Amino acid sequence: MSAKPPLVTCPTCGKSVEWAPGNAWRPFCSERCKLIDLGAWATERYRVPVTEDKDQLEAQDPDAAPPPATAK
Ligand SMILES: [Zn+2]
Repeated sequence: MSAKPPLVTCPTCGKSVEWAPGNAWRPFCSERCKLIDLGAWATERYRVPVTEDKDQLEAQDPDAAPPPATAK
């Protein structure tokens, strides 16, 4: 299955981003936007484990996290 990745909107800048497995910053368009968003909800307590924080981010922001279409 080589379906085209869906487009999502970057929560930080509103830019359209492909929800592709290769996009490490999804749903953000770039590392910068991801860091900006992290700073927005964890202004002082920027102390999250770096391991699996992507899934947590998606869970905390339902508006910006469409359900992953691909099963692992
Ligand atoms: Zn962005």
